Amino acid sequence: MPFDSHIHLGRLPHPKELAQALDQAGYVYNAVACEPAEWESLWEIWQDLGLKGKGCNLAFGIHPMSVLQAKESHKQELRTFLERDGCFMVGETGLDRRFPEYGPGELQERWFLFQANLALELGRDLQIHCVGDYGRVIGLLKRLGFGKSPSNSHPIFHRFGGDIGIARQILDLDGLISVHPSTLTKKSSRQALAEIPKEQLLFETDADETFWNASDTTRAPAMVTETIAQRLLDALRDVREAAENL
Ligand SMILES: [Zn+2]
Repeated sequence: MPFDSHIHLGRLPHPKELAQALDQAGYVYNAVACEPAEWESLWEIWQDLGLKGKGCNLAFGIHPMSVLQAKESHKQELRTFLERDGCFMVGETGLDRRFPEYGPGELQERWFLFQANLALELGRDLQIHCVGDYGRVIGLLKRLGFGKSPSNSHPIFHRFGGDIGIARQILDLDGLISVHPSTLTKKSSRQALAEIPKEQLLFETDADETFWNASDTTRAPAMVTETIAQRLLDALRDVREAAENL
């Protein structure tokens, strides 16, 4: 059964038709809406197509690149979306040194702490994006209490790019490591993967607007969605096979 732990459904063309095609293909995935403008439309697709209990789960959050647009009122709004169904995840959230407000105590960190706390409080998994400082992210999670007592809230390190030392700390937090093709291009990450128990590894395409050439969207929606669905299946199978053959 294909399981894609991280995909930006709402950023691909014809997301509703695509969700239908993926459902028919038996594709199992977490669809991530990581800025407030995407929350409502992803929720509507999930509701309209009756995807509860099928292959599509949702994550709602605020990405580190979007924190400057986030408002205080989004805190309550985010909670409301998450409370609509007990299986929804929080995120993606995290730290990314390429975007503003990255430093300790700055906006990225404040939004990360808010979302991590919410995940703990609601007992949800947390989709984490980290570019720059795994040590700081792991330290913050520890401080909040992740990994201390049995919990339904597992940190998922999406698009993992750390080494074996970092991977071990993530496993100590009862976390999961999600493998993207970019994970396999880093030697230290490849070496780490070979040592991680298979049941703590996930696989992902992280497909978003860059996964598809926008000029091709002039083709009929059915054709576009069929092609994307097939491409996702292929991409996921390839990363899985490559990671398992390390
Ligand atoms: Zn993402």
